[in-house]
Amino acid sequence: MARIGFIGLGNMGGPMAANLVKAGHAVTGSDVVPAAVAKFAAAGGTAAQSAADAMAGAEVIITMLPAGKEVREVYLEGEGVLARAAPGALLIDSSTIDVETARAVANAAETKRFAMLDAPVSGGVTGAQAGTLTFMVGGPADAFARAKPLLEVMGKTIVHAGAAGSGQAAKICNNMMLAVSMIGVSEGFLLADKLGLDKQKLFDIASKSSGQSWAMTTYCPVPGLVPTSPANRDYQAGFTAAMMLKDLRLAQEAARTAGATTPLGAEAAALFGLFVAHGHAGLDFSGIIRFLRGT
Ligand code: NAD
Repeated sequence: MARIGFIGLGNMGGPMAANLVKAGHAVTGSDVVPAAVAKFAAAGGTAAQSAADAMAGAEVIITMLPAGKEVREVYLEGEGVLARAAPGALLIDSSTIDVETARAVANAAETKRFAMLDAPVSGGVTGAQAGTLTFMVGGPADAFARAKPLLEVMGKTIVHAGAAGSGQAAKICNNMMLAVSMIGVSEGFLLADKLGLDKQKLFDIASKSSGQSWAMTTYCPVPGLVPTSPANRDYQAGFTAAMMLKDLRLAQEAARTAGATTPLGAEAAALFGLFVAHGHAGLDFSGIIRFLRGT
């Protein structure tokens, strides 16, 4: 049993922390929204009065926050994690944030002799609830070995991606590839429609040919072809367009900083930006096909 401080009990952090409680760990949870803390307490966790309270005596501190700004605040500012965590505590940030912030916070942690991991996830709220998330982890190998048994409580696939920041790098590269392939699949089906080619025929051919992709065979943006598609539920998320846009913008920021050429990533960010600006932030990201169709 580990003593864990969990900061950020939102849509993802709440169920992740609850799974740690279910596995028998002593988890003290904190959030700036009191209702999130109350929900966690109802699930059997210990409610903290403050982040400092959650950190007191914790062997492991896990954060699941919205973005880089909150991660900097919670770790670096005033009475933050680096000032208050118990000596030797293992720090794990599972938020999806920019690579630069992840590296800066990990460096600051190292100078204070804390081992820190960036460990963003994929799998969404259902994966968080079911304990089947994928963790992409950056940081020292010994810290990864310490964290792995806990990550296995919250996830099914746990991969050590490399040094600090590598988890975030893996997450944004994966999601940039996904966005580009989803747009590609959508364009293929829209063109087929204009050419009078039946959608089922295109699916039967392309899903067994070189045009095959996860975006087509598991998450097809056209309704009626794949049972698991949000397209069958009027594009109810799933993975929202707003979340995809956030990750695409992080990817563009990283590409600029690193000097990488990602023209299709840039185009995907622009298209999802328009889609979200037209009021579809909460729709599943595969709904981009509607936008491309002009409906
Ligand atoms: P969320 O907004 O539901 O949860 C974030 C929580 O952090 C909120 O409860 C908020 O009150 C709390 N918070 C903010 N500032 C705080 C502070 N200073 N101290 C303590 N708590 C604070 O977001 P979420 O959906 O749980 O996502 C969390 C992270 O996981 C994000 O980085 C997101 O990109 C990533 N993510 C989300 C999903 C998804 O499907 N929701 C999937 C993969 C990754």
